[in-house]
Amino acid sequence: MTTSMAVRRRAVRGALSAMFALIATCWITTPADAAKRDNKALDDETLGYIESNTLAIFYHELGHALIDVLNIPIYGQEEDAADVLSVVLFDEIYEKEDSDLIAYDAALSMLIDAEWNDDGGEAPFWDVHGLDLQRFYTLICLHYGGSPETRENFRVDFELPDERAAGCADERALAESSWGGILDEIENEATGSAKFKFVREHEPGTEAQSYMLEILQDEVTHWNTFVHLPEIVTVSFVLCDEVNAFYDPELKAILICAEYADYLVEQYRE
Ligand SMILES: [Zn+2]
Repeated sequence: MTTSMAVRRRAVRGALSAMFALIATCWITTPADAAKRDNKALDDETLGYIESNTLAIFYHELGHALIDVLNIPIYGQEEDAADVLSVVLFDEIYEKEDSDLIAYDAALSMLIDAEWNDDGGEAPFWDVHGLDLQRFYTLICLHYGGSPETRENFRVDFELPDERAAGCADERALAESSWGGILDEIENEATGSAKFKFVREHEPGTEAQSYMLEILQDEVTHWNTFVHLPEIVTVSFVLCDEVNAFYDPELKAILICAEYADYLVEQYRE
């Protein structure tokens, strides 16, 4: 699998590191510092949760975009393929510790979605997306399968049964071999000279939206340092009137709804 993508650090660290930072600096907190902290509406844990899930959803939509512009044949549901890319990229781009935090937050979000969308047993079996809980267990399995020796707690916390866990290293290997060649292709100059283009269609109305916008801009800048596409793919931060994210093959555009940022804050408070 490709190794030249630069390893990144998350901007906001997880709950544990934020706590240590507080312990380390509390002796020198001045009234001015305290006021600044109190004015900050969202704490680091919430921002971390927004960051993880913004990355997870962006990588999922990226999967749709790559399948489209590179004409990748998909045998099965494209939604599943996009979910698989998202998980594979956590380890591909981030250090283990950060990858674990992202996977943990993304899994939590799917679990809350499943709970909130529970419509009394009337599951939408007709939908192109797998059922929320199926997507959740696949995420757990693929992330666990990337390093079973260090991710046993992750598997246990999210209650992935032994029956599925036994095959997760193999599921993961298949995921990496499926997407690995495609990631190599976009790093190859021969693929094209186009890049991602970021469009800020909506001015953020909340701190969560500002933070999501910042993360997306930063992602696009980062990907553009190595990506080669056959045509321009737009990444737009937009207002949608719904909590969602899309890939539009007509426009060659990934659309991330600003409302998603506020929804993530609601989820985290849950
Ligand atoms: Zn999708």
